[in-house]
Amino acid sequence: MFKITLLPGDGIGPEVVNAAVKVIKLVGERFNTDFEFKTCLMGGCSYDAHGTPLTDEVLGECYSSDAVFLGAVGGYKWEDLPHQLKPEAALLKIRKALGLYANLRPAKVYEPMLSYSSLKEEILKGTDVLILRELTGGIYFGQPRGYDDGKGFNTMIYTKDEVVRIARKAFEYARVRNKKVASVDKANVLEVSQFWRKVVIEVHKDYPDVQLQHMYVDNAAMQLVRDPKQFDVVLTSNLFGDILSDIAAMITGSLGMLPSASIGSKYALYEPVHGSAPDIAGKNIANPIAAISSAAMMLKYSFQMDKAAELVEEAIENVLTKGYRTKDIYKEGDKLVSTDEMTNNIIEEFDTVCANHSLNVFTL
Ligand code: NAD
Repeated sequence: MFKITLLPGDGIGPEVVNAAVKVIKLVGERFNTDFEFKTCLMGGCSYDAHGTPLTDEVLGECYSSDAVFLGAVGGYKWEDLPHQLKPEAALLKIRKALGLYANLRPAKVYEPMLSYSSLKEEILKGTDVLILRELTGGIYFGQPRGYDDGKGFNTMIYTKDEVVRIARKAFEYARVRNKKVASVDKANVLEVSQFWRKVVIEVHKDYPDVQLQHMYVDNAAMQLVRDPKQFDVVLTSNLFGDILSDIAAMITGSLGMLPSASIGSKYALYEPVHGSAPDIAGKNIANPIAAISSAAMMLKYSFQMDKAAELVEEAIENVLTKGYRTKDIYKEGDKLVSTDEMTNNIIEEFDTVCANHSLNVFTL
């Protein structure tokens, strides 16, 4: 039995989390696995109920669960609150509290969505990149930091332990993918990058079956749009990863399709990349695919249910191939569907996919 803490949050968060839960429940039935869900408040809804965007009780629930699944937080209503009470403050707090140091952002293009990218189809076809970003160190947290009338400053710092643990994750993920890691740095200019590179080379000695390449961040940004197929796992620090993951995300199309995972040594949190989209909340038009695909990541990375994750992804791709589109990805000639209809289509397709694989009940 796996216990999942659900944090639907604000705006479209509850709508897309609801969609993901429906899919997870069906996976549970087909794969003979029990999932227990506990829904808690986080973000603006928590502020309204408790005066804080994340309570210690909710963190306690997260600590006692096998995985945390988040929708999105934030909205117009809470924009003028002091910084520490804003819904978004809960995001930093939960990542820190759960020690989520590795952020995984897959950039994989569904075949039927090739024409939605700003890149040419032949450049994009076959792209399957995993951007692995260090999430709790680097310049976003380094001290000293500040500014006065004459200067502004931040500190880009990495300890050996921080680089070792994220590098290990990169090599381990690459091992079960295409066995290539591109470590991104700016070692031609920054000492912190020279250190990063030295440590990555040391860690690589334990993974001789994985190919390691080093790339300067400016070149990596160019290569991601020039020839994204060349990459398998891209290992980056916090700042560089923030930028590169958004580049990689956008080459694949819409915000409503992008899943993510944030993983630590003990806990893991899964969430769609998009925000709470207050402009479309409550209208049953949000795209649930990012959330459903994040659920597939949870099945794979937290529950080792790789086959189930693969079949969920296959169901999503088949539904897109059949022409079903929510409003954000709709073009003339497509079949326009609501959040609920898209979810139900994926659910039905998942059953078909299970039948096609001649498997009705799986075991772990
Ligand atoms: P957003 O991602 O919420 O929305 C950007 C645009 O994309 C909007 O037009 C929205 O309608 C559209 N969109 C997003 N997800 C969609 C989906 N699943 N289906 C269809 N359309 C979708 O970003 P924003 O507007 O900059 O931020 C809105 C709020 O969300 C803010 O309060 C922001 O701070 C918060 N936010 C939260 C998270 C998070 O919880 N992890 C991440 C980003 C932004």
